[in-house]
Amino acid sequence: MEDASEQKKRSAIVRIITGTDSVNHQEILEILSIAVIVVHVMMVFLFHIMGVWQLSLYNIIVTAYYSYCYTTVREGKVRLGYVLTFFEIVAQMIFTTLIVGWSVGFYAYVIALIPLYYYINMFLGRNGDHPFTPYIWAMITFGVFLGTYILNLNTDPVKELETSQKVLIFIFNSFFAFQLIAWMSHFLVLGYKKSLHDMAEKNASLDIAAGQDSLTKLYNRRTMEERLDKAMEEAKTNGTIFSLVMGDIDFFKKINDTYGHDCGDVALVSVSDILKACVRDGDYVCRWGGEEFLLLISGNRGVATTVAERIRSRIENNTVEFGGNKIRFTMTLGVSTYAPGYSLESLINQADENLYYGKEHGRNQVVALKPHR
Ligand code: GH3
Ligand code: MG
Ligand code: MG
Repeated sequence: MEDASEQKKRSAIVRIITGTDSVNHQEILEILSIAVIVVHVMMVFLFHIMGVWQLSLYNIIVTAYYSYCYTTVREGKVRLGYVLTFFEIVAQMIFTTLIVGWSVGFYAYVIALIPLYYYINMFLGRNGDHPFTPYIWAMITFGVFLGTYILNLNTDPVKELETSQKVLIFIFNSFFAFQLIAWMSHFLVLGYKKSLHDMAEKNASLDIAAGQDSLTKLYNRRTMEERLDKAMEEAKTNGTIFSLVMGDIDFFKKINDTYGHDCGDVALVSVSDILKACVRDGDYVCRWGGEEFLLLISGNRGVATTVAERIRSRIENNTVEFGGNKIRFTMTLGVSTYAPGYSLESLINQADENLYYGKEHGRNQVVALKPHR
């Protein structure tokens, strides 16, 4: 049996290699740390075989060092992991140059510090867009590089290797340095892709939130206004009939005053659930204002009146429980239906007028047509 973290790790490797935007920086650095540890363990053996005990010992220490880095990364200290890597790469170049000389090519890893730096700065630290950043960073890396070269010119290596050994280590180092540069660049691209992906997700959720009422999760007034414009357009061009139902909770202020605002909120959510349950696909329900709801019903006056009556009845029979109290209330609803020549404004006004006619004539009722009309 494979445990879940094992599976997660494997899929992180696949995601990193295939370059998907769901990879996170911690996963990248965790896997990078493991790869670096493996390379250093190889160096321990390589130098042991060649009899360079100083570098074998150095790499044992560095393996322990990167194991520590790995644990800091696992604790979420991603930035620290990168900073520690930076210092190790510089230390390694200086130390190995002193022991076996410049020609074995440990300097190649220093070049990989450039994409590494950009990675840290772009995604883990402050912004990396200072105009002199590339120049400054090139000069720092070049300074360390040149300094070590000059150091090499003025000192004899502690251990003189045979040419074949030098060639072998040079190839080994160049290979992994090129790998490091390519992978760091790949991680930069991955980081960029992830940022784009995250931003798109954030925008999508903002879009939803912007169109929704946060308490009831119904459409808000703005979204409904867009829907109403569309409905008017369709009615004018295709002759599709639609109706509006405007509902307002009766004596809602009393609920707030008696049981508190939180109870009022619970009542609003409960009403929203009933409204959603009473409409069909293609109808729209919105919170038009405080305790006022507007429904866009695809259908004529008869259909809308039936829906409104169903809502009225369900609310009348609904009980909201709050703080040990059982609260009951009613709703008055006004209906209006599109007819050629109507403007959206007149349609909303008519639903509103019918609603207030109902309020003035006893509440808890549906008014589809005022008697004098
Ligand atoms: P009527 O039957 O005439 O509609 O009486 P009413 O008390 O329902 O009407 P009124 O307009 O006087 O009161 C509406 C109340 O709705 C007042 C306001 O505090 C409350 N209200 C508006 N929005 C919210 C809300 O988000 N949460 C809560 N709890 N109350 C709200
Ligand atoms: Mg009210
Ligand atoms: Mg009201």
